[in-house]
Amino acid sequence: MKNLPYSHQHISSRDIKNVVNVLKSDWLTQGPRILEFEKKLASYCGAKYAVVVSSGTAGLHLTYVIAGFKKRDEVITTPNTFVATSNMLMAAGARPVFCDIRPDTYNIDETKIEKLITPRTKAIVPVHFAGHPCEMSVIRAIARRHNLLVIEDACHALGARYKNSKVGSCKYSDMTVFSFHPVKSITTGEGGAVLTNDKKIYERLTLLRNHGIQKNENGKNIMTELGYNYRITDIQAILGISQLTKLDVFVAKRNQIARWYKSILKNSSDILLPVCLANNYSGWHIYVVRTRDPKNRDRLSSFLKKNGIGANFHYPAVYSHPYYQENGYRDVSLKNEEEYQSSCLTLPCYPDLTKKDMQKVCSLINRFFVAL
Ligand SMILES: *Cc1c(COP(=O)(O)O)cnc(C)c1O
Repeated sequence: MKNLPYSHQHISSRDIKNVVNVLKSDWLTQGPRILEFEKKLASYCGAKYAVVVSSGTAGLHLTYVIAGFKKRDEVITTPNTFVATSNMLMAAGARPVFCDIRPDTYNIDETKIEKLITPRTKAIVPVHFAGHPCEMSVIRAIARRHNLLVIEDACHALGARYKNSKVGSCKYSDMTVFSFHPVKSITTGEGGAVLTNDKKIYERLTLLRNHGIQKNENGKNIMTELGYNYRITDIQAILGISQLTKLDVFVAKRNQIARWYKSILKNSSDILLPVCLANNYSGWHIYVVRTRDPKNRDRLSSFLKKNGIGANFHYPAVYSHPYYQENGYRDVSLKNEEEYQSSCLTLPCYPDLTKKDMQKVCSLINRFFVAL
């Protein structure tokens, strides 16, 4: 029996050929493919600038360094995300403040953000969970009223659209971060990007990616700022360029799979289905259902795993991890997040998943509930 993971990359023979050509070239890193990938990515998203980096986590870290957080500065974000979103805030010396999520999209609840703002708040970091865009116009308006930065963690949402603009256009934010990990909409193995429309931010991103080293007026390398090695290789950049040509097809397939799941599971009284708000186009990075009764979640998950389905949890609340519990978040408990994290289950969703695969997942789910 074929095992179905929750996600999987699609690599074509053309991708492989393109990568091999770079391996045979003079430039394995810091070559011409980096700028080419950046230009294509910026143009795809409708932003002025893109800077590609070694991972989404590195990209988040750079945006937070550029934000210039000082000790005890606060940043409002969501607990329903991969830990990197807030880990890098901690690394940059800021304090994540977790806002509860919406009960429909499981994104940050934009109506609860303003109450969390204090004189120390410096930024809002929304995450487009599962590829469903957050309510960016509302978030941007709040940020404007309080003079806060908006940094989008769009690691789930390359290829998604909020109203009429692509996620990554930075129409409603100062910076947007993507990841190219193999489970994301396109992959470079490891990799990430930061997009922005601000030239100064762009210049600082390129500087900090490469140790803070730049050329002075005499053409000498000088280091002016504490930076990092967050570079990506040309080998990865060409894979990104090659994958980008198929991004829309990948995302369309993910949307198709979401429609298939819905058509079969919509009448189930045991399962709650995910939703993307009207007027938006989701990247469907993951397909997350909830068991109406949280007690059934772990049992359904074990049953699916026993039958070769890589069901997964996205995510345990960030504040529930031991590190956060031990660093001042023991008293945090957010109602919608708690309900969500105890009942969520990620089902397989990726471009190569067939209708038959999807039907198998659904019939296993139905079998589980009939036998209950
Ligand atoms: C994948 C992911 C990241 C981290 O990206 P990497 O490229 O794996 O470092 C950050 N935030 C979210 C929401 C992600 O899903």
